[in-house]
Amino acid sequence: MTFEPRYAPWLEWLDSQHDCMLARTIELAGINSGSLNAAGVNRVRETLQQYCSVLGGDTEVLPLPPYTEVTEQGEKQQFTLGDALRIRKRPEAPLQIFFCGHMDTVFAADHPFQSVRWLDDNTLNGPGVADLKGGLMVMLKAIEALERSPFSDRIGWEILFNPDEEIGSLSSAPLISEAAGRCDLGLIYEPCMPDGNLAGERKGSGNFSVVVQGRAAHAGREHHLGRNAVRALCDFVSALDDLNGQRDGVTINPGFIHGGGAVNVVPDHAMFRFNIRLSDPADESWCLAQLQRLGDDINSRDGISLQLHGAFGRKPKRLTDANLALFELVRDCGEQLGMALEWKPTGGCCDGNNLAAAGVPNIDTLGVQGGKIHSSDEFMYVSSLTERAKLSAMLLMKLADGALSAHLNSKGSAR
Ligand SMILES: [Zn+2]
Repeated sequence: MTFEPRYAPWLEWLDSQHDCMLARTIELAGINSGSLNAAGVNRVRETLQQYCSVLGGDTEVLPLPPYTEVTEQGEKQQFTLGDALRIRKRPEAPLQIFFCGHMDTVFAADHPFQSVRWLDDNTLNGPGVADLKGGLMVMLKAIEALERSPFSDRIGWEILFNPDEEIGSLSSAPLISEAAGRCDLGLIYEPCMPDGNLAGERKGSGNFSVVVQGRAAHAGREHHLGRNAVRALCDFVSALDDLNGQRDGVTINPGFIHGGGAVNVVPDHAMFRFNIRLSDPADESWCLAQLQRLGDDINSRDGISLQLHGAFGRKPKRLTDANLALFELVRDCGEQLGMALEWKPTGGCCDGNNLAAAGVPNIDTLGVQGGKIHSSDEFMYVSSLTERAKLSAMLLMKLADGALSAHLNSKGSAR
């Protein structure tokens, strides 16, 4: 290792924290915290609150507005979410850093994937171990290392644990923008890429639902009086899917469809959900115009009505000069720790999109190394807990040393 000796004691301290990080990751992965399991997410929050007590700072538990989804019946249904947890310390320090990690997973309370097991000495399989409960441990130990060091007085920080990232962070988005208004940069603990690299640019994303209403009729006696909602929706889906390939960087994924009932009834109801990804903010208006056109076409049919719900929740993440400088600094830290790190574009989205949209440079894949996330094969390389905690800790110490001051308009001094 070739890192500067003045950083050494706190980086070495992290070696002694490996077992603690691992035990806590396993403890958190054992708590089901599917996004809509508010009680489970709240148990994760309470556990994190205990882990964070050593850091000091002011803690707030923040209830969020409910999550709304269009049901298969085409009705809007609301789901209560777990509370967010926010901790702030030294808001008057010259450099303000926003730390963020989500508490929820994609595995619902009734999903069969609920426990952790070892695949080999260094590979742990379990729900959320990589995405991103291991990352929460990386974040907290890196902050603890900073707090134990003499570098801490130059950095103020704000941690947000949000409960709804896996369903798009719609309810926690205002807390992220609020933090963006007072922080100079953001560090987010999504897992790094399976090969260890970081995510650079990210696509934007929107989730939409369509509800089609027709007219029911007996399929034999009065077929001509019926207006078939399934047929109308199928036309819409086909036309929508045909938009793929028509504009660079835009992809559309029809993801869920439901409609009809008994086959001797002309169906009067059908619903459908889809996702759009795009790389340029200007693609949004193109997409919305296309959706309008396709919807108008269906709505012009006799006895059929189509309603579109949803929006683009995440803007594409572009890399500003300040963001590139932050990446270079992380690459430099990685080099000193013996890791060769690059950043690569991805079609996936996360809270880093939200921060970038608010103009805050950020790196959003500072968590553990693992893979097969969002599946029952999700795994984490256990050695990456200490490795990545050191990466973040060194980054924080270098930032305290003024490494990026030329690139940041410090908001800390303005308060
Ligand atoms: Zn995820």
